Amino acid sequence: MSETIPTVGKLTSPSVICELLNGLGHRPNKGLGQNYLIDSNILGILVDAAKISESDRLLEIGPGLGALTQALLAVGAPLTAIEKDKTMVSHLRKTFPHLTLLEEDVLDVNLNALFAGDVNKIIANLPYAVGSRFIVNALEARPLPECMVFLVQKEVADRLTAQPGGKTYGPLAIWSQLNYEVTSVKKVSPNCFLPAPKVWSAVVKFQKRPAPLAEVTDPERFKQLVKVAFQQRRKQIGSNLRKNLPRFFRGLESCGIDPSLRPEQIPITQWVALAACAGNAR
Ligand code: SAM
Repeated sequence: MSETIPTVGKLTSPSVICELLNGLGHRPNKGLGQNYLIDSNILGILVDAAKISESDRLLEIGPGLGALTQALLAVGAPLTAIEKDKTMVSHLRKTFPHLTLLEEDVLDVNLNALFAGDVNKIIANLPYAVGSRFIVNALEARPLPECMVFLVQKEVADRLTAQPGGKTYGPLAIWSQLNYEVTSVKKVSPNCFLPAPKVWSAVVKFQKRPAPLAEVTDPERFKQLVKVAFQQRRKQIGSNLRKNLPRFFRGLESCGIDPSLRPEQIPITQWVALAACAGNAR
């Protein structure tokens, strides 16, 4: 059953936002990335990209004044939202009395419990300061959501969607694309937010793959390998690993990886193979 949508004005309207903020005696908190979405086309793109049906169970991070929340509730699927700011929380409780709202820092939330409790899609205009950390936490939680649509800084979107050989290819692309097809849906101008941030943003979509690109046997070992390798991304993988992770260096040959390659040239499946080879070689 869809919740009765409250009669707040259009929550992407700058005048409605200013009026609400004045009424709440609140100024946008920069540290909490409070850049409210004022472009209803982008709002529509976020919702459409998630292809929501009434049988989905949704999670929103940082509902703020509720522009996206209102659009998600209108679809009629159950929605849980996580908001850290007390003033936003009290506004949201009054405006959307039937919303399941957790007043918490999203980085402290037990995502395993939330995901196991059925959340299958996440949609969020993520706060800048915690965006990539939250995404990494979500990628490490289980079971993985089927679809995630985020509005993030363009620079983060570039790292999430990067392909081998590019300057932005690194751990974030590798963690993300192992289990998801990650696509950049739309570049978003600073003018779509109030207050306008200094940088461009982008809508990115994570669609879970039917099966991971490769099966990681030991996630901790895999993570350690990728992290250490990319700490010196300009260095050849052979000399880097010989010095810093000799156990993995010995695996290069058996995995058929040329030691003169730089980390950014190695595709995801080869990173997985190398982590596994090194495990066998112990
Ligand atoms: N969803 C609204 C919109 O699109 O207009 C607001 C998005 S605003 C970019 C980010 C929201 O995340 C703010 O409401 C902020 O208070 C909240 N937030 C910031 N850091 C958070 C955290 N660590 N945990 C939960 N919410 C957070």
